[in-house]
Amino acid sequence: MERETLEMDVIFVGAGPANLSGALHLARLVTKHNDAIQRGVRQGKPLGQIEIAVIEKGASVGAHLLSGAVMDPRALKELIPDFLESGAPLESPVLEDYFLYLTERRAIRSPITPPPLRNHGYYIVSLNRLAAWLGEKCEEAGVNIFPEFPGAEMLYNEDDRVIGVRTGDKGIDKEGKRKPNFEPGVDLRAKVTVLGEGSRGSLTKELTQRLNLNAGREPQVYSIGVKELWELPDDRYPAGRVTHTLGFPSDSHTYGGGWIYGMQNRILNIGYVTGLDYHDPLIDPHAEFQQFKTHPYVARLLAGGKMIRYGAKTIAAGGYFAIPRIYADGVLLVGDCAGFLNSQRLKGIHSAIKSGMLAAETIFEALVAEDFSARQLQRYEQLVNESWIVPELRKVRNFHAGFRAGRWPALFNTGLQFVTGGRAWGVFDRAKAEPGHQAMKKLSAYGYRGDDLSQRYQRLQFDGTLTFNKLTDVYHAAVSHSEDQPAHLHVLDLNICSTRCAEEYGNPCQRFCPAAVYEMVEDGSNGKRKLQINFSNCVHCKTCDIMDPYQIINWVTPEGGGGPDYKGM
Ligand code: SF4
Repeated sequence: MERETLEMDVIFVGAGPANLSGALHLARLVTKHNDAIQRGVRQGKPLGQIEIAVIEKGASVGAHLLSGAVMDPRALKELIPDFLESGAPLESPVLEDYFLYLTERRAIRSPITPPPLRNHGYYIVSLNRLAAWLGEKCEEAGVNIFPEFPGAEMLYNEDDRVIGVRTGDKGIDKEGKRKPNFEPGVDLRAKVTVLGEGSRGSLTKELTQRLNLNAGREPQVYSIGVKELWELPDDRYPAGRVTHTLGFPSDSHTYGGGWIYGMQNRILNIGYVTGLDYHDPLIDPHAEFQQFKTHPYVARLLAGGKMIRYGAKTIAAGGYFAIPRIYADGVLLVGDCAGFLNSQRLKGIHSAIKSGMLAAETIFEALVAEDFSARQLQRYEQLVNESWIVPELRKVRNFHAGFRAGRWPALFNTGLQFVTGGRAWGVFDRAKAEPGHQAMKKLSAYGYRGDDLSQRYQRLQFDGTLTFNKLTDVYHAAVSHSEDQPAHLHVLDLNICSTRCAEEYGNPCQRFCPAAVYEMVEDGSNGKRKLQINFSNCVHCKTCDIMDPYQIINWVTPEGGGGPDYKGM
């Protein structure tokens, strides 16, 4: 097939905070350099016109971005020192912090807010709006932004050096045939490609395996956050109030916790995080969140309100020990792709922005040196190590691993880390660190019967007022995919679903997917069941790619523009 080839200098894949900050910073560094040479205050060659592109699979910048989010403004201040005067879309400064331990009936307020969850000086933001604003700044600086262009494939030369990305084809029907509007994807070639796809990026996954970027590191582990926006009838929860919770409904062996943030105009941002290294195969992160809302304290807060939006997204929670090699020939990893999120603070926007800026500084030096090899790009790792990103992660390096022993030892270790600068009590055998899906136990380990898998959430009813089923929630994620295209969830062996997986785990994809994409349905009249994939519901959270116990689900990019629309989330 004939494909158009576009020559760029630098391509950023994914319009998230890391890449947008990187593209903006790079464009400014190049302009500054060229101007300084022209004015005679700097020696050297001007770089001339450097073509920088950001490609994004969503219909607009920020459409697929979802986060809590309380932002530490540290990095944004470095990128745009006058971000307040420049109109950065911030919901509210954080004015009050609460930390609650929830039992089934009671909410016990901690007399002190644990230091990682103290948010004074920070801002509640909508990540979607923040990214849209950064996108405008990029365009003003001359960066090309291409929405509806998913990065579908990495391009390599014969030496395994990354030379760009191929964007997805458009106009393929569900049988894989070309429709009249067929347009082949474009080969975007670049001296450096920056992957900022967010958690469990599909290109990052392929690149990491091909170039063995995880060698000597722990496997990445993830969590999923499920979230709703609520419109409240009065001012009962002011803008700027931040609450984090621990306890109900998680069991003591499952990493989990809730958040409640007050936004402007009586909007409440409420969500629940579940660690994707849980043991019980019946866990359903969406149901955990719905159950969280039934707690008397939370239910009182939401009474009389109206749920208006929904979303779900994974975060990379492995921290310091799970950071992969973040550079190779012609390529860099930034933000959540590189695992820079601090899961103890539940914050990653600041480190994403900073990593994008450091990637830009590395690329600028590479452009000046005209060298885009791994040897030159290794400078990025050095800059990251010397910046505040790595020291911040080192101080909390045992946080997530601490939960392997359960909630109480984990809390003890979390406290201890403040005193020891990151050392923990007890020995975590790093060689035994495993990817999260391996922690899931079989039904038999819990004594569950395959013909009744409703045990865990027996008391949870979806009443359509306080609690919602997945389909109602997905409607509020404004998801849209053309139905006439191949499914972007590739299940490599459907036979396993009807046989081994049904017996051993009870088809957990039906539960861990927060968007009702996977459904076991009758297979004709033979009494067997088969997997049906309702791919058009997919909110692109990547949980299935991460948590499938047989690792036979491969999430790939759908046709450009498809997916959720997280405007204002
Ligand atoms: Fe998330 Fe996978 Fe479900 Fe899509 S299909 S919503 S990526 S779990």
